[in-house]
Amino acid sequence: MIVDLRSDTVTKPSKEMLEAMFNAEVGDDVFAEEPTVNALEEKTAKLFGKEAALFCPSGTMTNQIAIKVHTQPGDELLCDSTAHIYNYEGGGISFNSGVQAKLLPGERGRISAKQLEESINPSFDWLTRTSLVCVENTANRAGGSYYSLQQMQELADVCKKHQLRYHLDGARIFNAIVENDYTPADLGKIFDSISVCLSKGLGAPVGSLLVGNKELVRQARRIRKVFGGGMRQAGYLAAAGIYALDNNVNRLKDDHARAKQLASTMSKLGFIDNVLPVDTNIIIFNLNEKLKPEEFVKKLASHDIKATGFGKQAIRFVTHLDFNDAMLEKTEKVLKTL
Ligand SMILES: *Cc1c(COP(=O)(O)O)cnc(C)c1O
Repeated sequence: MIVDLRSDTVTKPSKEMLEAMFNAEVGDDVFAEEPTVNALEEKTAKLFGKEAALFCPSGTMTNQIAIKVHTQPGDELLCDSTAHIYNYEGGGISFNSGVQAKLLPGERGRISAKQLEESINPSFDWLTRTSLVCVENTANRAGGSYYSLQQMQELADVCKKHQLRYHLDGARIFNAIVENDYTPADLGKIFDSISVCLSKGLGAPVGSLLVGNKELVRQARRIRKVFGGGMRQAGYLAAAGIYALDNNVNRLKDDHARAKQLASTMSKLGFIDNVLPVDTNIIIFNLNEKLKPEEFVKKLASHDIKATGFGKQAIRFVTHLDFNDAMLEKTEKVLKTL
């Protein structure tokens, strides 16, 4: 039994998902005549209470397209210092949009309205123009923490007051939704644009959507083509996405329960210094000084458990659709013997 805790992107399509893909009706999406892509876009837009959505190959692309649409070269966007858009998208903010980022030190990946208010540049010729605020929910590098609806709304109020655009990197938004009392439509009301990944906890092989109003999506379509993301018979992929939205949202709670149990076991182990609080499906922990992360990862690998380092003494485990109770049991057992 191989256990892969590196990421929730490692899942493979189930038999039922493959069947849905196999049976998809397809067309050419660059001509906007892809019935299954159109269906997925409509379904997602409706779910979030927005006018339109755009299917893209990755969450990096949906985020980068959103940044491009919302800004002009020379502008500044505001985000938490751990943000994916800043740390893990290859410098795309500057490369694609000619925009700089001002990083705010949030609380476990979450920025506050007060911080935001204090970070917006006044309008002087010599100051960088602040035009966009990006938040991440759940926050990946911060360990899967989530925002409350009120926190997101307070940030929205500041954005509105200062005429800033407001983007949500919702790569794992459904992980946040199943733990909270807000719905996708509640978020659609707050944000100008939302990026949603199907290839993380939802278990689809490929794909993300950018959700927004008609005008945003019209511009986004054009930029997607420029970025090389115009796909043709993408309905095979969209079918997996539709299947994922219909079947794999509520079960995210199981991933969270397994992550919590694993974290609780781990917090009692001598070679682990501390485990960050676990709110969803991500466990970040620090090994004590004596154990090098590479050594720990190697030891796990010898038991067919895959993991990767996450900076200095830290390791990240992510639970997902293809991590079951038997794997949880095995992982706990192996960890106790190290
Ligand atoms: C995974 C992820 C993305 C997008 O990643 P892709 O691999 O490009 O799909 C964006 N934001 C966050 C927070 C993520 O975890």
